[in-house]
Parts: sequence; structure tokens; C-alpha cells
Amino acid sequence: MNLQKELKERFGYSSFREGQEEIILSVLNQRDTVAMLPTGTGKSLCYQLPGYLKKGQVLIISPLLSLMQDQVEQMKVMGEKRVIALNSFLPYMERRSALEQLHVYKFIFISPEMLMSPVIIPLLQTLHISLFVIDEAHCISQWGPDFRPDYLKLGEMKEKIGNPTTLALTATATGEVRKDIKRVLQMEGAVEKVYSINRENIGLFVEKVTNHSDKLDKLLEYVTTWGGPGIIYFSSKRMAEDVSLWLGENGVSGVAHYHGGMEQEDRILIQQQFLSNKLRIICATSAFGMGVNKENIRFVIHFHFSSNIEAFSQEIGRAGRDGESSVSVVLYSEQDLSIPLQLIQSELPEDLQIQRYVKEARQGQANEIIDLLQLSEIQYRFLTYYSDELTRGRTLSHDRLIEKMKQIRNNRLQYKKDKLLSMIEWLQVDSCRREKLLHYFDEVLEQENNFCCDQCGYSLKDFKCRPTDTQNPIETRWEKRLEKLLLG
Ligand code: ADP
Repeated sequence: MNLQKELKERFGYSSFREGQEEIILSVLNQRDTVAMLPTGTGKSLCYQLPGYLKKGQVLIISPLLSLMQDQVEQMKVMGEKRVIALNSFLPYMERRSALEQLHVYKFIFISPEMLMSPVIIPLLQTLHISLFVIDEAHCISQWGPDFRPDYLKLGEMKEKIGNPTTLALTATATGEVRKDIKRVLQMEGAVEKVYSINRENIGLFVEKVTNHSDKLDKLLEYVTTWGGPGIIYFSSKRMAEDVSLWLGENGVSGVAHYHGGMEQEDRILIQQQFLSNKLRIICATSAFGMGVNKENIRFVIHFHFSSNIEAFSQEIGRAGRDGESSVSVVLYSEQDLSIPLQLIQSELPEDLQIQRYVKEARQGQANEIIDLLQLSEIQYRFLTYYSDELTRGRTLSHDRLIEKMKQIRNNRLQYKKDKLLSMIEWLQVDSCRREKLLHYFDEVLEQENNFCCDQCGYSLKDFKCRPTDTQNPIETRWEKRLEKLLLG
């Protein structure tokens, strides 16, 4: 089989990017594979091409609903009609009809919770699944910051659907996490295909500022000098909005904000305007970025730093996908240190939420519980997963269950605090930042980097950004395209 020819014919690309061919060959040879490729290098192709070349269907587990929707939309835009996303976004009637004719789809995306549903497994057992893909596979591991307990059952599910060849994909996993991925998926013998996370064309800078207003001044200076396109990350929705407005008032054009609290249509609109160079700068929370395939992002500025190195490296990895010189800048003041701590605390359920969940809400409908206890999706998942696990096959008093759940929550919190400490250590390091970042992922920096980092003596003044022209705001042709995208 001539893989290059298939690549050209099916995707129009003339060559593979680093790692893709090796991963595809491994999967075609029916080897279970754990693959780590940097964000934006084309992980999707690693299951799409084998999907076309293998008989049978590809089942893809994806952790985030928005990410899944993006992936499906992108495949549809590429002309693939036999693709479906099975998740709670899919209206009831459509879901029913999709389930009745699952065999017509080549690529089936599914959320982990839907995969666990007792109705789905028998349906999947009637299919011939030749490739089982776990996207964002680092979520499997409790040693990763994005641990999703519902991923733990995937090994069991894999067995139920006939042990197909399995491909676990991630952009960010330490050696420990990769080992855990193999353990949970019951594939200790899997091949590891790990490629460097080093992005040589991204300079790494940390800029110490004295206070908030100093930070704003620096931000304005950089944004005005560099033009864009760029992303500015914030830890709060409100701050993302405020600073976006403030930049506009201070003469920066083409700025908008983006966060998870906005309507989905608005979010798609902003994302599309940024992709088509109608916006230059996005002030965003971490909700922005997954599935954003924009090649020419010149800078990623962290107005607030991320709460772990994994998230940070994913966020900065959105810059410079075209290979041109780009920068990552963290604007950092001592006062920022307490923000991520609050953030990680808020990701887990509080004592009162655990108590009320166990005593009052446990049997209710998901939506009702979420409203009643004011839970985030992640908090809800935590409560449902652990209360089910802890009571499986045994009776526990309410008080005992609450106590055990608090204990798990506390351990998790401690773990997240350790991750935060590693991030802060990186900010304060007094040696090469790149070396330290790679070391975190058990990688060694092979050779010196040009325009490496502030600690290696480089200055942001050396960064020459070639600004991209912004086009006129929304035109009708573009609106039509968006409409098509929204309506499918
Ligand atoms: P990831 O999941 O690794 O972040 P994607 O799979 O979304 O990345 O791919 C990123 C972009 O790279 C997409 O626009 C995709 O079409 C493009 N791409 C993937 N493989 C190739 C290739 N071999 N040649 C050129 N472009 C590619």
C-alpha cells in the first residue's frame, strides 16, 4: 500500500508531518499504540487515514462536547458524510434514528458517559469496530491534571466491543501518565510513539510586573507593537471581557473576548472571525483553543498563568503552527499566586455540595442536580462517579460515603496543588526555560535553540512580528458559510 498516495488522494497533503506515518503504520499493523504529538501537528489524521484503509468502523472517544462537535464539523467540511457525534447535544429524535442505523457511519465519535450507557454497548457489539481511538488520552490518568474518572472504565468497554486495535492520542503526557494510559486500557504491550513537545519557533518569556496596572501597560505595549494574530489568556471570564474592552478603548482594533459563559453561537462567531483574520486578538479563558486550527498565531500572552504545566504547554502550542517565529509571554506578578489556587479549589465539589448530593440529590435527574447544587460539569462528574463506585456492591451509610468522598476530593486537591507548584517553579526558574519545560515531560533538550527564552539572554525586543492584515468585518459570503456550519 502506498501511504503517500493515499494521503495525497484523500487529504490533498503532499507529505506526512513528523510522526504521522509511523503512528499510522503501527495502527495498520494492528498494534495498540500510545501516540504523543504536539498540539496542532495533526493527530486526527492518525485515525482518519487508517479508518479509510481498514474495513469496519472507527470509534472515537472524546472528552469534551465542544471538541467533539468541532472535529465532526471539520470532517463534514472535508466532505465526509459518514460521521456522527453521539452525545447529549444530539437531539433525542436524531439520536434515536442515528442509533438505529449506526452501521452506516464510518467514524463514530462518542462521549465516555454515553459509551457506558447500557443501551449503547449491545448496539456497538453488532458493528465491526476495527479501530478504537481515545482522544486526549491523558484524561485517563489520575496523574494528569485533567483526570476524568469516567475514562477509567474504557479498558472494560474496549473488551466488551471485541478488543479492537486501540490508539491513545495525546499532546501532553508525562512518562508516568503514558504508563497509566496503557494500564487502564489494558494494553501494557502497546507501542509508544512519542514525539518532542519542543516548539523551536516559539520563544519562551516570563515578564515580572509589579502590579495590575503595570501588567496592563506591558500588555498594551506588546499588543500594539506586534499586531497579531494573538491570544491572551485569563483565568477569569470577567477579566477577559474587561481587558478586551480596555484594549479597544486604548486604540487596539480587532479585539474580542471568548469564554465558556457565552452563548454557543457567539463563541462560534468569534472563533470563525479570528480564524478568517477578521479579528486579530482574542482575550480568552482556557475554554478557547481546543480545535482552533489557526496557523499564523504570533503570540500567546498569559495575563494569568495556567494552573499546571500540561495546560500551559497546550496553550502556548497554539502559536506558530506555520513554523514562523512566535512568542509565549507570561505576565507575572506576586499577587497572581493566589488566583490559580482558588481556581483548582473551585474545580472540585465543596463539602456542602458533597453532603447535599449524598443526602438529597443523588437520585435526581442530572440537570436538576446541577441546578440545585450549582455544580459545574466537572464537579457533577466527580460526584456521580465516586458515589457510584464507592457504593457498588455494598451498602455505605450516608455519613461514611460523605467522609470517603471528601477524602478523595482532598487527595485530588493536593495533587492539583502539586501540579500548580511545578508551574510556579517554572515561572521562577533561573536556568533555561525550554530545558525545564521539556524535562517536565521527561525529555532532554538536544541542541541549543535560537531565540530560546529570557533566561538564555534573549529579549522580547528581538521578536520581529510580521503583522497579518485584518480584513473587513463580517461579509455576507462569510455569514452564509457560518450559517451552513451552524445548521449542518
Ligand atoms: P491536533 O489534533 O494534533 O491538534 P489536527 O489533527 O486538528 O491537530 O490538525 C491540525 C491541522 O493540521 C489541520 O488543519 C489539519 O488539516 C492539518 N494537517 C494534518 N496533517 C497534515 C499534513 N500531513 N500536511 C498538512 N497539513 C496537515
